[in-house]
Amino acid sequence: MVELVRKTIEAGGRFSQRLEAGDLFRIVDLEGRQAVDFLVFAAELPADRYNAANTVKINANVYLGKGTKLYSDRARVLMTITDDTVGRHDTIGGCCSAWSNFVRYGVKDTPGCFENFVAELARWSMGPEDVVTNVNFFMNVPVRQDGGMAIEAGRSKPGDFVELRAETPVIVVLSNCPQRNNPAAGFGPTPVEVIVARP
Ligand SMILES: [Zn+2]
Repeated sequence: MVELVRKTIEAGGRFSQRLEAGDLFRIVDLEGRQAVDFLVFAAELPADRYNAANTVKINANVYLGKGTKLYSDRARVLMTITDDTVGRHDTIGGCCSAWSNFVRYGVKDTPGCFENFVAELARWSMGPEDVVTNVNFFMNVPVRQDGGMAIEAGRSKPGDFVELRAETPVIVVLSNCPQRNNPAAGFGPTPVEVIVARP
């Protein structure tokens, strides 16, 4: 196993990386209760990107965890979750943005994951139209029996991690959620660590 990248992403920071098929990508929640917003694109055809609806219906579960395959628009498997110490991650809540923070919390011009994604996607010649409904690792978004949902306090503890295997060459993009207005990041964002390894 060769470690290609090991990097701490500051609270509210962002990251992107191309991975080859077989590469392992680990995200470590260093202090716990952090949310990490995540997008993934087929490197050879970025228009074929993560599709939350395909992922939920083909895995037949609204939550993501160990064994979940992340499907694309064309229903190809982009990545598989190979390890997970939390057990449940969200893909219905989407990302936060300055716009939705204003509507939900009445605060203007706050940093958001949408803005982070747009800034990071520019590295890959992609733009706002490439921000689709994403994965929220470590984010706790329970769906009730009556269909109610809520963003609740994160369940991850310091050192909890999720690991994914690239099943094809991909570009991964993440926003270490800067949210301070709901419990997604425990009302105060904290750093995470990313590790890329090649078996
Ligand atoms: Zn966010």
